[in-house]
Amino acid sequence: MNRRDWMKTLGTACALNGLEFPPSAHGGTGALSGTSSSSATTLETEIVRLKLRHTWTTTMSSSEYRDTLHVRFVRDGVIGHGEGAPIVRYKENAEGAQRAIQSVRDWVTGADPWQFEKLLTEVFHRVPGQYAAKAALDIALMDWVGQKLGVPLYRYFGLDPNDAPITTFSIGIDAPEITRQKVREAEPFPVLKVKVGLDTDETTIAAVRSVTNRPLRVDANEGWKDKEEAVRKINWLATQGVECVEQPLPADRLEETRWVRERVHLPLIADEACMHASDIPRLAGVYDGVNIKLDKSGGILEAFKMIQIARALGLKTMLGCMVSSSVSVTAAAHLSPLVDYADLDGNLLIANDPFSGVQVKNGKLLLPDRPGLGLKQ
Ligand code: MG
Repeated sequence: MNRRDWMKTLGTACALNGLEFPPSAHGGTGALSGTSSSSATTLETEIVRLKLRHTWTTTMSSSEYRDTLHVRFVRDGVIGHGEGAPIVRYKENAEGAQRAIQSVRDWVTGADPWQFEKLLTEVFHRVPGQYAAKAALDIALMDWVGQKLGVPLYRYFGLDPNDAPITTFSIGIDAPEITRQKVREAEPFPVLKVKVGLDTDETTIAAVRSVTNRPLRVDANEGWKDKEEAVRKINWLATQGVECVEQPLPADRLEETRWVRERVHLPLIADEACMHASDIPRLAGVYDGVNIKLDKSGGILEAFKMIQIARALGLKTMLGCMVSSSVSVTAAAHLSPLVDYADLDGNLLIANDPFSGVQVKNGKLLLPDRPGLGLKQ
């Protein structure tokens, strides 16, 4: 199947069913960390190398692959799977994430997983930083809990899977001809998210618009360094069928972002400026919404809290992801009935997804109805 046909398959039945491999047989870097604890409870970690279908370029980086940390929490014969994608911007990497989990393994395997709130609070206290590692552990525990209870995670949180939103499909920064090709191939997705933030923004948007009239969301990834430039670009983007703009200025420039917001009419979404629940109150009045990611927040429980806080403050909510497998993306998707926007396409950008979970049909997220995350290998 050529790439174009593959993308059509994504949009109609989505999926990567023909591309499923167990982590141990595919994609692993060999950095398997052994089991532990004298009890029947084990906690395993593995660094999995995810191969990108296309070189992925944003204002921050360009890469052919990404390494994510996978965690398996095993107890009573039930395996909970988790994953975290370390974020370079926050000085994280997969090896550091693995060491972080190893540092608390004996304590975690000796704790009561039914007291997962208390357990994770203690892990957050014991481990400084390393939010991707914490996310991997949180997801594994919640997958285990859901399976033990026999309910999908969306049901555990009281959500209606029919409320799951559409997801955007992301178009990284590239030459105009490649951009046009990517947009054509993303035809099943009704809304695209286009990476901008460089001097080539006008060329990029022109390339996209030469192929499609679909609504766009753009992400500048802190790329515009100057408030006047941001206003100029956003007001131009408003004439180009753009719905919202993510992280126009560097995360720490709150007052300049407020200045920009007073001069534009598109909603501004905070991403790099919003890692944790405690960040959100100061963002109200500066941004119109927040992009919440499990890898930034430290997992499902913190992300759920962030969504509730943002909503209470009148902010729009987006669930995003990093380049990752279906483990992390499916975990986020279980919370997606709560949010206004979803950008959950990280698993669609890779060629060696070890699992399948959430599916996409014509852009709409379809949540698995199996217990826990509902993953299949
Ligand atoms: Mg972003």
